[in-house]
Amino acid sequence: MNAAYTSKRKRKTLEDSYRHKGMRMKLVGELRKKGITDKAALAAIADIPRHFFLDKAFEEWAYKDVPFPIESNQTISQPYTVAFQTSLLNIEKGDKVLEIGTGSGYQACVLAHMGAKVYSIERQQKLYQITNQFLPRIGYGNIRLLLGDGYMGSQRFAPFDKILVTAGASYVPDALIQQLKVDGVLVIPVGDDIQKMLRITKVSEDEVKTENFGDFRFVPFLKGIN
Ligand code: SAH
Repeated sequence: MNAAYTSKRKRKTLEDSYRHKGMRMKLVGELRKKGITDKAALAAIADIPRHFFLDKAFEEWAYKDVPFPIESNQTISQPYTVAFQTSLLNIEKGDKVLEIGTGSGYQACVLAHMGAKVYSIERQQKLYQITNQFLPRIGYGNIRLLLGDGYMGSQRFAPFDKILVTAGASYVPDALIQQLKVDGVLVIPVGDDIQKMLRITKVSEDEVKTENFGDFRFVPFLKGIN
């Protein structure tokens, strides 16, 4: 891993220029062309300075539609994947949402920008700490970050309207279905090498409906805290 990736996003200044805004508008245009129609998700991507989430040396990469390495050998998901997963959730203002796999915190900010009340779990202590210090600096101190194993969800803050998993799971954890409200939705990529993007709707206390939205590739959903 390149040493630059492990730096702690300690920028002296967080500068968002017209040039950055222009790059964001271009990225939003690309996402629209690729079929994303969720207006609130696109507005969040247009507003949130994604380059703040990467090391300064890589800021040109922030607005390309590609995943990118961050601290602790993890990645910030590709903007298309963020937009696609977010759209599948049909976020409404006030939704209580649990994200699993905080990583850089970017996806959590997109959900919060759309008016969701966001809880997000990370298993890697170092990433949790960096992101927990960073989000208040960019105005997202209202996102509740938790250090823990996402396979168990968060019993403490359940039930949720929506749950979003941003790592590739080998199976659907029961705890996550249990922690959904009836009519709640879980979006989770499932598979060992390549993942199928599943949207699971809890239609009653003991019944779910599963839809498959095709192949994606994520970093693995691992057990335990690191
Ligand atoms: N949503 C992130 C992308 C994260 S990549 C973003 O917007 O930047 C996936 C993240 O899931 C990694 O940070 C990884 O450490 C985390 N992860 C993997 N398994 C996990 C688990 N069991 N519980 C919580 N987080 C987990």
